[in-house]
Amino acid sequence: MNLILLGPPGSGKGTQAKLIVEKYGIPQISTGDMLREAVAKGTELGKEAKKYMDAGQLVPDEVVIGIVKERLQQPDCEKGFILDGFPRTIAQAEALDKILEEMGKKIDAVINIQVPEEEVVKRIVNRRTCKNCGAVYHLIYNPPKEDNKCDKCGGELYQRDDDKEETVRKRYKVYKEQTEPLVEYYAKKGILYNIDGTKSIEEVFAEIDSILQKLA
Ligand code: ADP
Ligand code: ADP
Ligand code: ZN
Repeated sequence: MNLILLGPPGSGKGTQAKLIVEKYGIPQISTGDMLREAVAKGTELGKEAKKYMDAGQLVPDEVVIGIVKERLQQPDCEKGFILDGFPRTIAQAEALDKILEEMGKKIDAVINIQVPEEEVVKRIVNRRTCKNCGAVYHLIYNPPKEDNKCDKCGGELYQRDDDKEETVRKRYKVYKEQTEPLVEYYAKKGILYNIDGTKSIEEVFAEIDSILQKLA
């Protein structure tokens, strides 16, 4: 099963991707996580990407397309994968089509998680991420059992540099301009599924799961 999770920043893509991983055993490919890893390691790629990420802008297409192409060729992607946060532009979507075609694969479903701007802002400013394993929490909607400590690995929780309100609003604008056109792109291919992302984490997952069960 080859999936794309689409939706504005804070719509719950990462949260839902992790639930799909648990149930279906296919890997999550998060370009945001991969870029943050490169930034943390201080690689050339990380240094280049950080400028854009801190400003709430998209990292150039060639950079992201290169990372995804390499990742999709890893053996764990053979039985399927979940793309989380990629593609984010029409150019990325076209490049993805080409990469998959060369590999004899295709996308089975694009899950579009719909959440309005005011709600994503509330979600992101209270988002906390585990430094160690990347698990995601929300101080009110999905708090860790112990303050500032990851339930899964005990790691320390932090607030991402780009999760301040001003940058979030900028990222939402970038989403509207550059990423939302993908909704139409995938609707035309007949593989788009719209989900109301304002419901609880469990309710949203139940809806996604019912779509995936029909595909599997
Ligand atoms: P969120 O989970 O809030 O949607 P991400 O972790 O997916 O955010 O992305 C964080 C930042 O990383 C983005 O604002 C952007 O700078 C960069 N980034 C992630 N994925 C892509 C992509 N596919 N294309 C360009 N930039 C990306
Ligand atoms: P994205 O990957 O799309 O940026 P995340 O999965 O990181 O989104 O979720 C953003 C924030 O909102 C996190 O703090 C997460 O715990 C919280 N969250 C995710 N889904 C829901 C939901 N359905 N209801 C309330 N809060 C949610
Ligand atoms: Zn952790």
